[in-house]
Amino acid sequence: MSTGQLTIHLDAVAANWRALDAMTACETAAVVKADGYGLGADPVARTLAQAGARTFFVAAAEEGAAVRDALGPGPRIFIFSGHMAGDTDLLRAKDLTPLINSVDQMLRHVESLPGHTFGLQLDTGMNRLGLEAAEWAALREIALPLSPALVMSHLACADEPEHAMNARQLSAFLEMTEDVSAPRSLAATGGILHSPDFHFDMTRPGVGLYGGLPFANATPVVALDVPVIQVRDVAAGETVGYGNTFAATRPSRIATIAAGYADGLIRAMGDGLVLYAGDTPCPVAGRVSMDLITVDVTELGGEPEVLTLLGPRQGVDMVADAAGTIGYEILTSLGQRYQRSYRS
Ligand SMILES: *Cc1c(COP(=O)(O)O)cnc(C)c1O
Repeated sequence: MSTGQLTIHLDAVAANWRALDAMTACETAAVVKADGYGLGADPVARTLAQAGARTFFVAAAEEGAAVRDALGPGPRIFIFSGHMAGDTDLLRAKDLTPLINSVDQMLRHVESLPGHTFGLQLDTGMNRLGLEAAEWAALREIALPLSPALVMSHLACADEPEHAMNARQLSAFLEMTEDVSAPRSLAATGGILHSPDFHFDMTRPGVGLYGGLPFANATPVVALDVPVIQVRDVAAGETVGYGNTFAATRPSRIATIAAGYADGLIRAMGDGLVLYAGDTPCPVAGRVSMDLITVDVTELGGEPEVLTLLGPRQGVDMVADAAGTIGYEILTSLGQRYQRSYRS
């Protein structure tokens, strides 16, 4: 074994979906964009469909086509980016439901795919995607009689329950959808945990399915073990790695492991990141290289065969903290070079 071993616990993905579903009285969909948050849209979507999910969300039509191929006919697949120029054939062929974001997209949709299913995305203050209030006012008399499959919006600050933005967006959404009879959706993972006021007819969890915050009680989904290539003795005063950023202050043992920033373990992780040999934390020593990381294993008795980066002692959000980022980015950066195995 010469590359990291990435284990993806599909049973945990299903358990997380069920746990989030049990928190609401409405339908729970599943967000599988970005290749299922980096874990493989095909196995993840199949697992979630088996667990009971009937509605899936992706960012782009191309992702939707891959999910359709994985799931076959039946489940609804929504496209957050809507109906972009060039999407028409794929939307038709793969029976995908674009979430219309602008007047231009609405016109493109009704002209190129009359009668084809669609949803509507409203902007309630995040200013990222969706129809603004004025556009919505102009479009609603045309769009609502065409029976949209969903009317949705997205929260900007749902991971901060106390943030005043949540209530502002909720009241904007209520106002914009007051007399809408189509199903409504506002909550992603954060909104589910926040309050039933945000649940409406459908929730759209993503990161919580994959074991990430803000779903603090999630079952961990990923484990990453990295083989040790070599262990060496380093005398006090010697340096390790590019830029000599680590200097041994005592006689040390340095393990070189087979993963680096080309595997998504970004250089910013270097400072403060630890790997585990069983229960023993071993700090990274020096800079993360493209394919290699050097780790101080002086405290260990023997020579480890592997060191664990993600596992029972350390989840994606702890690794994210060490790198100054969020669990979402750690997950979606996990590289293609790992040997991946799926447990169900
Ligand atoms: C990514 C995304 C989600 C899922 O969000 P999580 O925070 O991962 O649960 C839901 N809705 C929209 C519009 C998104 O972009």
